[in-house]
Amino acid sequence: MRKIIFSTIFALLLASSLAAKVRVVTTLPDLAALVSAVGGGQVEVTSIARGYQDPHFVDPKPSYILKLQSADLLFKVGLGLEAWLDPLVIGARNANLKVVDCSRGVPLLEVPSSVDRSMGDIHPFGNPHIWLDPANGKIMLDSIAVALKQADPNHASFYEANRAAYQKKLDSAMTAWEEVLKPYVDTKVITYHNSWPYFAERFGLVRAGYLEPKPGIPPSPVHLKELIEQMKREKIKIIIMEPYFSDKDPNLVAHETGAKVLALASSVGAFKGTEDYILMLDYDVKLLAQALKETAHD
Ligand SMILES: [Zn+2]
Repeated sequence: MRKIIFSTIFALLLASSLAAKVRVVTTLPDLAALVSAVGGGQVEVTSIARGYQDPHFVDPKPSYILKLQSADLLFKVGLGLEAWLDPLVIGARNANLKVVDCSRGVPLLEVPSSVDRSMGDIHPFGNPHIWLDPANGKIMLDSIAVALKQADPNHASFYEANRAAYQKKLDSAMTAWEEVLKPYVDTKVITYHNSWPYFAERFGLVRAGYLEPKPGIPPSPVHLKELIEQMKREKIKIIIMEPYFSDKDPNLVAHETGAKVLALASSVGAFKGTEDYILMLDYDVKLLAQALKETAHD
């Protein structure tokens, strides 16, 4: 009896060591969602930022250093979005940590011809909000699958199958979203921060202006006055805001122009019902389509 118990324990220990999970840290919950889609039960994934946080400005807590100390892989968006990340990586002193830049291979928008941070631009290498176009999500899934296969070759076919399945799911969702927003192609929208260029390009919306005079610079009364005049002139009825801003200025502009303020999920987990990458985009598309429908004939 004792012999059986010992051999059972030994077998369990052996099985658990063979099934050691890949330890992954991501900067954003969007990347965590994509990693989970590819890695399934073979990965243990933690996101540093939460979906309701501004991805440009994350408080680098010491607890994140602890997570990075024991991680195998770190996925980031790149393009200078995570300016807060380097001190955490340096603090972790993890020589085995592999950092994966998920912007690799993504066709970029708004790449500046020269970098001048004195202008207050927090998008120094092009617009970093790449994950809000599902087509970019597919490219990011490729990068994630490559990294997981390298880190854990024993489960390569598992990762490969998951990647293919999720990309297929994303493809059919994308077709449905394009259909839903098709009647509103060429509609002008205002956004608070410049987070939505990839989303807008995908679905044919026109970015007519921003509440921020420049990315990272809070709205000023002069800028808001100009924006209100432009919106009246061009009959712009939609203001999209990220969940981490105050709705004071959007509401003020909406009051002056008769526009509708929409708080959309700019990251996974920003609101209830946006816990997965596809769910998040679905939430945004549906809310936006509804608002576009309501304001189309104003
Ligand atoms: Zn930004």
